Amino acid sequence: MALRSLRAAGAAWLLLGSIAGSAFGQGDKVAPSGAAAHATDAAQIAELVAANRILADQGVLDAFGHVSVRSSQDPSRFLQARSGAPALVTAADIVEFDLDARPVDPGDKSVPLERFIHSEIYKARPDVKAIVHSHAPAVIPFGITAEKLRPVYHMGSFLGTGAPVFEIRDGAGSATDLLIRTPAIGAALAKTLGSASVVLLRGHGDAVVGTSLPEAVFRAIYTAQNADLEAAALRLGAVNFLTPEEAKAATATNAVALNKAWLMWKQQVAAKR
Ligand SMILES: [Zn+2]
Repeated sequence: MALRSLRAAGAAWLLLGSIAGSAFGQGDKVAPSGAAAHATDAAQIAELVAANRILADQGVLDAFGHVSVRSSQDPSRFLQARSGAPALVTAADIVEFDLDARPVDPGDKSVPLERFIHSEIYKARPDVKAIVHSHAPAVIPFGITAEKLRPVYHMGSFLGTGAPVFEIRDGAGSATDLLIRTPAIGAALAKTLGSASVVLLRGHGDAVVGTSLPEAVFRAIYTAQNADLEAAALRLGAVNFLTPEEAKAATATNAVALNKAWLMWKQQVAAKR
């Protein structure tokens, strides 16, 4: 009996091991860029790990999607976790990239296939300091119908006059897997984003930008919530959206207030570890 229990426990560990092993490893194996790595900013890496866990905790990221931050050491570099589930990210998983999405010192880590979302937006938008890419289900209907994702309440005010929609077929044809796999597709996405805070990817998800990591996380969470509320409102009747002036004023207020949410979210995920 004892032996059988031991065997069962061993099998369970093997299973757990294979599950843990499979959480990382998909993605691209890319040779190092050859450039020198910057000194590690441990505080920034800790914030990025927290952002991964918060976005998973809030249901914005599941096993897929990612968050990045522009390096505090060099604006021509950004930090992003290796390919894997955001809820499992630790400081050891963070990789430094240049703006061509080449990892500086990846070691044996696989890097996300869609890293070009991040590199091309950072290249096009010097004001952007952090980016979240998710497949949040609530936003999908607004990328595949004529309904525009627009702010229905003050927390979604950063949506401004509405999120533009990126159509991958325009530049890459109608037979892609919809992923942003190349610099050219990433650059086209950044062009569609323009000066907006959110761009929807038709049949795929969204990319959300911020002037800080907390702001990008805040916006990613409230993009999904605004989408849920807008869909609910559309079922009831005509929707009274925020005016562009209201959206601007509420965005200025939220830029200060969002730190309260960030501190709370960080404590919530820290308590779960
Ligand atoms: Zn994606």
